[in-house]
Amino acid sequence: MSFEVREGDLAGRIGTLHTRRGEVETPHLMPVVNPVKNTIPPIELKERFGFNMIITNSYLILKHYGKERPDVHELTGFDGPIMTDSGAYQLLIYGGVDTNPEEIVKFQEGIRSDVGVILDVPTGGYAAREEAEFTVEETIKRAEQSIKYRSDPTMLWAGPIQGGRHLDLVERSARRMGRIDFQIHPLGSPTQIMEEYDYPALVDMIVTAKRNLPPERPLHLFGAGHPMMLALAVALGCDLFDSAAYALFAKDGRYMTATRTIRFEDLTELPCSCPVCAGHGLDGLLELPKMEREGLLARHNLYVTVEEVRVIKQAIGEGSLWELLETRCRSHPKLYEGFKRLSFYSDYLETNDPVLGKRVRGLFFYDNVSTFRPEVIRHRRRISERYRRPRGRNVLVLLPTPDEKPFNRSRVFREVRERLGGREDIHVCFYGGPFGIIPSELAETFPLSQYESSNGLGGNWRKDLPSFIRKNRYKKAMILIQNGAVKIRGAKAVRSLDEILAEVG
Ligand SMILES: [Zn+2]
Repeated sequence: MSFEVREGDLAGRIGTLHTRRGEVETPHLMPVVNPVKNTIPPIELKERFGFNMIITNSYLILKHYGKERPDVHELTGFDGPIMTDSGAYQLLIYGGVDTNPEEIVKFQEGIRSDVGVILDVPTGGYAAREEAEFTVEETIKRAEQSIKYRSDPTMLWAGPIQGGRHLDLVERSARRMGRIDFQIHPLGSPTQIMEEYDYPALVDMIVTAKRNLPPERPLHLFGAGHPMMLALAVALGCDLFDSAAYALFAKDGRYMTATRTIRFEDLTELPCSCPVCAGHGLDGLLELPKMEREGLLARHNLYVTVEEVRVIKQAIGEGSLWELLETRCRSHPKLYEGFKRLSFYSDYLETNDPVLGKRVRGLFFYDNVSTFRPEVIRHRRRISERYRRPRGRNVLVLLPTPDEKPFNRSRVFREVRERLGGREDIHVCFYGGPFGIIPSELAETFPLSQYESSNGLGGNWRKDLPSFIRKNRYKKAMILIQNGAVKIRGAKAVRSLDEILAEVG
């Protein structure tokens, strides 16, 4: 096994990728390194920033050094694991490459790459269906052939998933590539989709690929490098990233933060305390010649990126990745669109989300989107599929969720209990909030009382009520209404405790 998962939250995970040059903890972002010339010496990426694995381009090495086959570690001066891309990106951008699938596989072995990528055919963000289908089939064909060209079993191989926005093709690509002997699967073609900020499409692509790939193989999101979207991608199950953004942005005078990008000339403060920002200050950076400043901006961008990866790992370790998404996805309205898209995939997230072992002590609910998180989906499913009312309690009294928690110690609950005396047939349940129906005997179970919520969460749970009443075969059901009408089939609406008493008789 080349990949092990240690902890998870939502569909995100902390894992270990075993390569022949050592272990890499995921989620990991591999800085893209130019094999010929770099602003930052690659070894500094490891020693200063902690990037244990980098990615470079074997096609560019082939172009520059031909058949010399220099060891990629000697060439770059980086002694940790190195992944090499194949030139498929050049194929996408320039429309052609001067190599072939066999040559580039053998060449990557020859330069001692630790993780190679076959020469796939990228779909791109705008491909029409027919063209997209060709890229999927051609990539699968090359993937199958590539097995024959490989001779070094210690090297890991990545098989890219194509299909672009055509989700049925992404599904086909993932299923068939997942049956071929690869250890990693990159998801191809998201760059243009990300440049357009089409995050819902990106969410669709990632989830479709994940659902159809073997779960024990890490998913690598090609070309995703801005810190603001990493949390969302990790939450969906992406384990590896590569990015040239730190350097490209710096070249263009753009300063990254965890949530946005600021043009250097628009900075009036340095909203960061990394060694670059703390050491130079804004005035110090302004005085420097452009080239020197570019190198420092690239380093600042790397500090911000690596910090965000640590923030995400902390959130996974704690079980608060959803809360992190709530804040990060508000960085941009389009990213928030991507977050809202999770409501389509709440079952996928719930299935992958670990039930036990979270350290988080309370959940935060902000709006209706929050109510699609796994804990709510899981509770509602259990209530609908597995729950049975306590025997004998066949008169249902539904109370609106009180402000005090746990609900079964609230003033209204105690009053109902007192006034109904020792009635053994009464079953009090609460309704509302993010969770919907909470039987009073479960009210103290985590997280049903351990959450904070704003008003106006919507009411996805409303449709749960009639079937709850029906399935539990209550003789009688009453719902106490406050602030406006809730009409529920099978339950009599009452306005006060007195009315409940009169009904119960
Ligand atoms: Zn900084």
